[in-house]
Amino acid sequence: MEEMEEVWRRPKLNDEEDCPIEIQKKWTGVMRGKGDRSLIGKIVLERRIGKDTARIMMERVWKVVKPLEFQEIDRNCYVITFVSRRDKLRVMNGCPWLFENHLFVLKEFDGETQPSMIDFDHAFLWIQMLNLPLSYMNKMMGEVIGRSMGEVVEVDVLEDGSGWGRCLRVKVEYDLRKPLARGRTIVVDGKTCWVPFQYEKLPRMCFKCGRIVHEKEGCKESAESSSQYSVWLRAITQLRKTTVQKGEQKEKEKREEREDQGSQNLNIVKEDGVFQKDEIREEMEEIGSKARKEEIKLTETQVGEPQSPDLLQDVNKGRPSGTEKQKEFQVSISGNEQLIEHLCVGEGDNSKRVSR
Ligand SMILES: [Zn+2]
Repeated sequence: MEEMEEVWRRPKLNDEEDCPIEIQKKWTGVMRGKGDRSLIGKIVLERRIGKDTARIMMERVWKVVKPLEFQEIDRNCYVITFVSRRDKLRVMNGCPWLFENHLFVLKEFDGETQPSMIDFDHAFLWIQMLNLPLSYMNKMMGEVIGRSMGEVVEVDVLEDGSGWGRCLRVKVEYDLRKPLARGRTIVVDGKTCWVPFQYEKLPRMCFKCGRIVHEKEGCKESAESSSQYSVWLRAITQLRKTTVQKGEQKEKEKREEREDQGSQNLNIVKEDGVFQKDEIREEMEEIGSKARKEEIKLTETQVGEPQSPDLLQDVNKGRPSGTEKQKEFQVSISGNEQLIEHLCVGEGDNSKRVSR
């Protein structure tokens, strides 16, 4: 790889080499449709893993019914294409993943970035924060402590923001080149407490320096230094607090299936390169309006306990960016806030549920 970097280092260019070739976005053509169903993955491992070995193993781990497409773009780095976008989202949401105990870093497909520039040094990790006073096992606390390590993607709490349990679970986008945090010191009412951390699906790591990924020079700790890290950092994966009710789950699956059909229809249109047929457009509109109705209905039940608009804004901030369709939903939700408020006000006691 270093040799390659040497070759790619920009040399002194002559006139022909320096004359830019204008590239138009529309030339990406069918690639974008396929990209919607794809992820980019890299196994953090020195030994090279063939794409078929990786594919067979991950098909089993991800429990996909239909075969995956793995295309190697660099050493242990692949474009992974799923049959459906639903499978892709499920796998992405289930991060982190391991390949034989080595971290398999997954990134959203980005067709615009050069493969050598994709950032595989940051990955999602589920951290369990132990020994927190019960009053502080909540969303706010998870975000404050989590932020000291990286971007907080999710805090696993109930809808009211409480997270009582054996630990507080926080999903953070962690810089893998930094030693894993063993915990944090917090001060509550002048009293200092140590909050130890454990990591779910903890991959193979260096117990000398506590890193999952070393810099090019390798481990900087001397061979004699005593190990400050141990398997104690490995946590047992916990069930999510926010378990989805069976009925809701079915509805969610149906909705995602319709979205998949929608995106596949779009792909047909794009790949054929012909004008959009009326029946496909009609079907798309129907799917869209159905989905919008369901989303609004969900929101009504989600209003729940009062939450300040600022807090809601914070919740949305750390989220991975949604698809165009999801963004469309968000717009429709905010457009219906007044309607929801109106509905709640009409329900007598429930009028207190919406805070303004
Ligand atoms: Zn090390």
